[in-house]
Amino acid sequence: MLSAIQRELLQLISASEGLSRTELALRTGLSKAAMSAIVRDMLGAGLIIESDTMAGSGQGRPSVKLVMRAEAAYFVGISLNASAVRMVLINLWGEIICRHDFPLVNNPEILVEHIQQALPKLFQDGKITADQVLGIGVTLSGFIDENQATCVQSTLLGWRQVPLAKLLYQAIGIDVFIENDAKALAVSEKLYGHARSLNNFILVTHGDGIGSASFIHGQLYRGAHGGAGEIAHCTIEPGGTPCRCGKRGCLDTIASLIAIQEQAKAEQLAVEDLSQLETLAMNGSAQAIALLHRAGNALGLAMANLIQLQDPETLLLAHQPATFDGLLNTVVRQSLEAHVLPAFAGKTPLIRFTIEPDTWAHAAASVAAHRFLTPR
Ligand SMILES: [Zn+2]
Repeated sequence: MLSAIQRELLQLISASEGLSRTELALRTGLSKAAMSAIVRDMLGAGLIIESDTMAGSGQGRPSVKLVMRAEAAYFVGISLNASAVRMVLINLWGEIICRHDFPLVNNPEILVEHIQQALPKLFQDGKITADQVLGIGVTLSGFIDENQATCVQSTLLGWRQVPLAKLLYQAIGIDVFIENDAKALAVSEKLYGHARSLNNFILVTHGDGIGSASFIHGQLYRGAHGGAGEIAHCTIEPGGTPCRCGKRGCLDTIASLIAIQEQAKAEQLAVEDLSQLETLAMNGSAQAIALLHRAGNALGLAMANLIQLQDPETLLLAHQPATFDGLLNTVVRQSLEAHVLPAFAGKTPLIRFTIEPDTWAHAAASVAAHRFLTPR
């Protein structure tokens, strides 16, 4: 097991492009001699490797850069969506080694059995053994308790108070952490993605549902009950359309892909997806234009409120492929700019990226890697 200082060094190294012994000594306040001894142990244990040299500042000789060894640890990520389970194996650099899919069953006990049966195949494909896996992460759409152990509620899976981490640990014997999908993606962006150098950022996810998560002072903010970031159920239109949560006028009922599709259907527009709706709008359909304006305005307003509340360094928007290439994107940006305080306008960069088939499972594995690098 890692010592506290080894973890601290791995965290510092993982948030950088590599650091020298001198830089690590400076950042931790340890002497150069003490740092050399610790680094020697970590090199011996195969946790880090010496990478290329970097030019030293001033006259000194170039110093050797230390980076994490990709094969020092492996993590499994499991994403549960409406119809399928995807498992991926990642190394300490966050690279996906292999993946495995199977159909989802909602019964937690049977699901655990299926995961237990699938793991040996994943390890075999990854050419590793079970003892090289230091953690398993699971993502799903729903509320997760503050200990990342119990699914408090998931409408999608029809679950209430399911102690999934415990069930999996009892079956597999590897530490398991479960996490809400948006929060897991924020962790993965912090550890391996666009937010590596950011301490304060907000991630919004847009797809069939809408989610958000934020890092504050370098830490994922989970809220008092694990429910922080549920913007999908912020009321945007008081008294509006009934939502599956029991309220009315939630953001989800206006701007999610499912809501947009339902509104298009109600307007009797013959569209299969958002791209087709965008095409209709481009060809001048007043209904399509109005629909995209309504959704874009609502999403932009919610994002502006998030910026106003937290003043993040950057706002990340993760979305499905081909959904932010047209009018929706334009309206979201306009609405965002129109609803933040003029003093904030234009100050928060927006980074968009596409949700890929591996995104959620990779995010799940990142949660386990993050817990390994940043224990409580
Ligand atoms: Zn709602």
